[in-house]
Amino acid sequence: MGKKKTSPGPRQKLSEVTMAVSRKEIMSTTTPKGSWNAEILAKWGVKWPAPSGWKRKLIENWDAQNPDSPETKRNRQRAAAKAALEREINVISLEETQAEFMKSDVWYQLRYKVFTVYGRKCMCCGKRYNLDVDHIKPKSRYPELIADFNNLQILCRDCNYGKGNWDETDWRPKPDDDPW
Ligand SMILES: [Zn+2]
Repeated sequence: MGKKKTSPGPRQKLSEVTMAVSRKEIMSTTTPKGSWNAEILAKWGVKWPAPSGWKRKLIENWDAQNPDSPETKRNRQRAAAKAALEREINVISLEETQAEFMKSDVWYQLRYKVFTVYGRKCMCCGKRYNLDVDHIKPKSRYPELIADFNNLQILCRDCNYGKGNWDETDWRPKPDDDPW
């Protein structure tokens, strides 16, 4: 009764892509739109829909057969450059490093010292609960001041939420302030 579904069947494994085709040939044999259709791929022994990595595999096969060609040398350089870029991307980002620090013993000790020195009170509005130890100069823009006691003040959560990333207001009590 119903329409017959055309199933693509199991996808070809990359290890079954055994022909050798140069990068030059792959890049110059495309449809007018610059892509590769089933007909082109069939010529190279790649079944539609192509397994991911088919291009790299064909080129690797070609490189293995032509180890001394200038194109193989260029391909090797390209692969090395790509690997170097990936290594760079994998370097832990500043944000992740800071998030780690904010969970460390060093931070909790520093935070405790701030309360010990100043007392338990929002330096902006005077509230005495939901208190945060805040970086006066934001840690996103001054990562070098993340563990500097002189860059820390006490704000309640509401004041801290209200504070923008560009705000650097120092709310610490000044010597000639009203009795704190
Ligand atoms: Zn407050």
